[in-house]
Formats: sequence, structure tokens, C-alpha cells
Amino acid sequence: MKLLTREPIRRLAVPLLDLQAQYGAIEPEIMEALREVCARQQFILGPRVTELEERIAEYSGCRYGVGVSSGTDALLAALMALEVGPGDGVITTAFSFFATAGTIARLGARPLFVDIDPKTYNLSPAGVEDLIGTQCEMRAGRLIDRNTGGVVKVLMPVHLFGQMAAMDALMELARRHGLRVVEDAAQAIGAEYPGRRRAGSIGDIGCFSFFPSKNLGAFGDAGMCVTNDPTLAERLKILRVHGSRPRYHHLVVGGNFRLDELQAAVLLVKLKYLDGWTRRRQENARYYHTAFQKAGVGDHISTPRAMEGCRHIFNQYVVRAERRDDLKDHLTRAEVGSEIYYPVPLHLQRCFAHFGYGSAHCPEALRAARETLAIPIYPELTADQQRHVVSTVVEFYDDGH
Ligand SMILES: *Cc1c(COP(=O)(O)O)cnc(C)c1O
Repeated sequence: MKLLTREPIRRLAVPLLDLQAQYGAIEPEIMEALREVCARQQFILGPRVTELEERIAEYSGCRYGVGVSSGTDALLAALMALEVGPGDGVITTAFSFFATAGTIARLGARPLFVDIDPKTYNLSPAGVEDLIGTQCEMRAGRLIDRNTGGVVKVLMPVHLFGQMAAMDALMELARRHGLRVVEDAAQAIGAEYPGRRRAGSIGDIGCFSFFPSKNLGAFGDAGMCVTNDPTLAERLKILRVHGSRPRYHHLVVGGNFRLDELQAAVLLVKLKYLDGWTRRRQENARYYHTAFQKAGVGDHISTPRAMEGCRHIFNQYVVRAERRDDLKDHLTRAEVGSEIYYPVPLHLQRCFAHFGYGSAHCPEALRAARETLAIPIYPELTADQQRHVVSTVVEFYDDGH
């Protein structure tokens, strides 16, 4: 007998990120890895952490990995290892997650914000050169910020959304001015620069985050510093255990920046799948690009592209969109997840008001904050879901919203 009631028409929801879909595919392996750690009852800095350090160092083309408690602590420990302290200057981008600048400020140092390249959203080398040329001078081999008299010690580019900053030009500027380089690679594990150089391996220290929404995500907070310099690796290891060596003998004031075994065990399982997941993200990105062009909305939204010779790992797929806020509302009504990364550029955050920046500084960062939107790009996105995202965007512009 045929039922007369129809299936209710279910809308196809598309979250911005679906970690349950990822977990569903690897649950037995993860549970086994967790059971193994539980059986050993060694939870902090054990064999899984050591193994993960070796694997991530190898994966990112570095000699050393030092597991830490988060991406934020990776940045903090890196700056501490390079002896950034009160009054020092750190040149960085105005457009990033807060931790990039927050860690600088927590050490009493001053973030020197530079604008972004409007195409890649990454730190502009021309902007860095301009800042150095107009505001700084070399004195006895050190770069001095003329406004404050402080020593500018570090250049901290961010590989935003999964694409590396213009490292060749930035490294050249750093060399010429005696700056150390910390790569904020929190969103960019496995991203490559021409010559197959991976994120984290070009500067003095690279910093990764394993926050759950990053491409390699833990079941909580976790992070890592990578470096090719044995002295820095040693210093980072000391800093993460309150600056002690041997135990209870403190050489410097460090912190508790330790990584735990359960997180390392999860990450070791997931690392095997990372390249496959990255390929899916890249395929999804190609699909969006082609579909938006074909649908004729290319004038209304501009899609992200990988720079020549670079491997973009698409931690986020961020478009620049006309009437961005209305588009976001429209997507929300159609149950399509989206997010603004980031609505307020760093130089205009209220907690940094005392640094004296205004909206005339870093105009491209401010424009990006007003115009960009991240849409779903995660590897488990289905073809139906992607079509739904595209048609929802197209509908918005076709209806002349
Ligand atoms: C996520 C992120 C961080 C901080 O990492 P946590 O693990 O969340 O502390 C730092 N910088 C950038 C650019 C990030 O995206």
C-alpha cells in the first residue's frame, strides 16, 4: 500500500565545519590510540609526544619539533626563545587571529602592524619595507624604532587561511635588518612555497596550532614549534617546563607549555590522513572557483587562488563579497555556515588602543575585515552540499539582494 504522506522536504544543511564526519571515519583507530595511552598512564610529554615531534618536524621539513600546549603558546614560547621582552618591537600583520599580536603584547613588546596584500591577505613585504624605511634606523647592527627607541627584533608573518606569506621578500628584508623570523603557521601546516619549502621551515621558528578547527586538529588545545636551529630547539624545550634544567633548577622564567599524550596520540592518527584531506580541500576550492565563474557571479565575489608554485592547504576558503553582511544573513537562512575571519583588524582592537593606531593605518586590512567571508571547505563536504552552497550564493546575487 502506498502511503499518501510525502517525505517532508528536508533542507540540506551545510555547516562551516563538520568534525563529526571526520571522526566517524577514523573512530576505531582513534579509540585504540587513546586506550594505549590510558593503559600506560603517562599523560605528559611521553613517547607519543616525542613521536609526534619527529613526525611533524619531518612533515614540515625541519630538524626539530617541540610540542606545546597550543598555537598561542607556540608563538609565546618562540618569542621568548628569541628574547623578545619589554620595549622591543615585533613587525607583524594587521590581519590575523588575535594570538598573533596578543603574544607580542603579553611580553611587553610592541606589535608594529603592517598592512596586507589585498589578494592573498598576507603581510605585504612592500609595507614592511616602508615601515622600516620611514620609522626605523640601523644603529650598531640593530634595527631601532625611532618612535620608541626600542629594538625591533622579530618579523612575524602569518600564513593566513593556509597560504604562505611572501617569504622570499620577507626573509630578504629580515636579513638586511638583523631581524629574526617567527612564522605563524597556525593555519598552514603542509603549505608550500616555491622550491617545496614548507610552512614553518623558512624562518627561525615555525609555530603550528592543532586547535580542533585547524587542518590537523586535536581533541582539545595543542601546538608545536619547529626549527632547524638546535640551540633554539633546546631553549624551547626548557621554556615549556618553566625554564627548568635539570628539574627544579630554573635557568629562566618559562611557563607550562607542555603537550599531553592523549592529544599527541590523536594527532599521530590524523597525520596519516592529512594529505588526503588537503587534496579534498583543494578539489573543493577548484569546484567553487569554476562554479562561481560559470554561474556569472564572478563580478560579485572574488575567490581565493593559490599563488604560482605554492601549495595552498585551504584551512579556510575566504571570498571577498559584495554586500558581505547581507550575503552572510542569506546563507544563514539557507542553513549554510559561514564566518567572518576577522571582523576587526588587529591594529583597531580596543586592547591595543594605547599603541595609537587609527583607521587610516592598514586600510587593506580594514577593507578585508569588512568584505570577506569564509564558506565551507572541509574535506567531507559532499557534492550536494557544495552545489547547495553555490546555488545559495548565486540566488543571493541573481535576486539582486
Ligand atoms: C589558531 C591560530 C592561532 C592560535 O592557536 P591556538 O591553538 O588556538 O592557541 C594563532 N595564530 C593564528 C593565525 C591562528 O589561526
